[in-house]
Amino acid sequence: PCDSYGVLPRPCRALVLLNPQSGAGRALEDFQAVVQPMLAEAEVAASIFITERPHHAHEKVRDEDLSQWDTLVVMSGDGLMYEVVNGLMERPDWDEAMKKPLCILPGGSGNALAASINYYAGNDHVAKKKLLTNCTFILCKGLHTQMDLVSLSTASGKRLFSFLGFGWGFISDVDIDSEKYRWLGNARFTLGTLQCLAKLRVYQGRLSYLPLVPTAPGTPGDPPEPVTNGHVPLPVGTGAPGSLPPDSLLVPLGQPVPAHWTVVPEEEFVTVYAIYQSHLGTNLLMAPAARLHDGCIHLFYLKAGISRAALLRIFLAMARGTHLDLNCPHLCYVPVRAFRLEPRTAAGIMTVDGEALPSEPVQGQVHGRLCRVVCG
Ligand code: ADP
Ligand code: MG
Repeated sequence: PCDSYGVLPRPCRALVLLNPQSGAGRALEDFQAVVQPMLAEAEVAASIFITERPHHAHEKVRDEDLSQWDTLVVMSGDGLMYEVVNGLMERPDWDEAMKKPLCILPGGSGNALAASINYYAGNDHVAKKKLLTNCTFILCKGLHTQMDLVSLSTASGKRLFSFLGFGWGFISDVDIDSEKYRWLGNARFTLGTLQCLAKLRVYQGRLSYLPLVPTAPGTPGDPPEPVTNGHVPLPVGTGAPGSLPPDSLLVPLGQPVPAHWTVVPEEEFVTVYAIYQSHLGTNLLMAPAARLHDGCIHLFYLKAGISRAALLRIFLAMARGTHLDLNCPHLCYVPVRAFRLEPRTAAGIMTVDGEALPSEPVQGQVHGRLCRVVCG
C-alpha cells in the first residue's frame, strides 16, 4: 500500500509525555540534558507534560485537541506508550487520531520499542544514553511510517490495542516480578530471569493460531477470506462513527476456533509470547525478522519439559537473536495473523506490552498499519 512514509514539518510542535518515575527515575534529567538541546537544533518545539500517576497519559491523549501537535512523544518505557495508544483508540475520532505520528524516547527500564526502532534503522545495538541519543536523532530527522497494532479481546470483555507483545507464563512473570528492581534499569530483566529460573513452573492451557502462510491451498501473502460466523464483518472504517476496527479473523471466545486454524497439541507450557517488534527488551532480540508493518505476529512458545540449563541458553542466545539456531526441541516459532490462548486455571498473570493483566482466555489479531511512528 502507498502512503507509507511521511516527514514531520519544520518547525515541529511536539507534545512530550514524560514519566518521571520510569526506569531509574532520571527521565526528566536525561530529557533536559540529552534530548532538549538536540530538538532545539532541529526546530522541534517540545511541550513537556509530566505524568503524575498511572493512566494520566491515557486521559491526556484521549481528551487532547490533537490539532495543536505534529507528533506525540513518549519519554518513558513501553508502559506509557501503551497508555497513549489505548487512550487514542478510545477517542470517537480514533481513525483520525491514529494518523498522528507517535515517537518513543527510551526513559524507562523496559524500552523494547525504542530498541526495535533503533534496530530497524540499521544502527548498532546500543543501550542507555546512546540509545536515547539515537532515538532523539531519529526524531530530529522526523521520518515516520505506519505501524501494525494487535487487537486483543479477553473473555471478560476487554478490548486492548498492543504494539509490542502479549505474554503468558515465564516471560510475563519475569516482567512483573522484576518491576521492584526498576532502579536497576534494563538489568532488572537479567536478575528477574535468574530468580524465575529457580522456581521454574509449568502453565496449562490451549494455544491456537492462524498461520501467516495458509496451510490449505491459496497464495501465500494474500489476505485471507474474512470469517463469517453468523455475522458479516465490516471492513475497517465503514462502521458507525467511532466504532472500532472489527476483528474479521476472530470468532467469539465461546466458540471453537475456525477449522483452518492450528491447535497446538501440547497443553503444558513454560511460556507463550506473541511479539510484533524485533526486541523484547534492549538486550533481547527475540524476533530478528520483525518489522513495523510486516502484518505479522511472531508467535513463540516453550513447551514444558525444558531444562533450566536449556532455558538459560535460550535467553543468553537472545542477546544476539540466535536462539532459534540452537534448535531446541522445546522452542517453537511460527509467524501468524491471529492467535488464541485459553489458560486452564485463572492462576498467574498475562502481560500486554509489559503491563500486567489477570489470566483469562484471550485472542488477538493483527491490524496492519493502524498507527504511525517516527522511525529511522
Ligand atoms: P518502565 O519501563 O520503567 O516500567 P513505563 O513507561 O513502563 O516505565 O512506566 C511504568 C508505569 O508507570 C506505567 O504503567 C505508567 O502508567 C506508570 N506511571 C506513569 N506516570 C507515573 C507517575 N508519575 N508515578 C507512578 N507511576 C506512573
Ligand atoms: Mg513498564
